[in-house]
Amino acid sequence: MDDIILEIEEYAKLEDVPIMQKRGINFLCDLIKDNKIKNILEIGSAIGYSSIKMALVDKDIKVTTIERDENRYLEAVKNIKRCNLENQIDIILGDALETEIKGTYDLIFIDAAKAQYIKFFNKYKENLASNGIILSDNMSFHGLVEEKERIKNKNLRQLVNKIKRYIVFLEENTEFKTDFYKVGDGIAVSRRVED
Ligand code: SAH
Ligand code: MG
Repeated sequence: MDDIILEIEEYAKLEDVPIMQKRGINFLCDLIKDNKIKNILEIGSAIGYSSIKMALVDKDIKVTTIERDENRYLEAVKNIKRCNLENQIDIILGDALETEIKGTYDLIFIDAAKAQYIKFFNKYKENLASNGIILSDNMSFHGLVEEKERIKNKNLRQLVNKIKRYIVFLEENTEFKTDFYKVGDGIAVSRRVED
């Protein structure tokens, strides 16, 4: 198994697929363990790396993951098969903003188009179990969120502004309380406020 994982990491590097960073994925897997999470919904599968890592935490874990890019989806399907995890991981090809997902999840992991994080959050909180967690990746966006002056490119600046807007959205959200962690590329952990 370890060599397959290494190969996936290598492929991601070569093909520029933005899979989760080592520290980030370890943080995510620890959180799954600590909270005894069993049902996971992931927005943004890419080539299946994080869904495979999450499924490997425990045999009882089920992951549903959505990817809109067909080539990445096909690569993910291949990788999931190679790891014999077809019975634990259900991958869907489609745009997560247009996909109908039934059922509730203990963890919703948002790791897709950064400009649409608020939309993902608002749509998928409906699928969150009452004591569930929404985890969002790339809150730092390679350090650019903290250092906006470094950005010369206009599109990139707009994207970073959208991430900032999402951070403010989370900070001001009265339904959820969010903790931010400077691990990997920046992780936000949101839990519903109990009333
Ligand atoms: N979670 C993966 C990395 C995901 S990279 C890992 O750590 O291994 C982000 C992925 O989200 C890209 O492959 C991109 O195609 C996908 N994506 C972006 N917007 C999306 C959307 N609206 N619906 C589904 N997938 C989307
Ligand atoms: Mg990411």
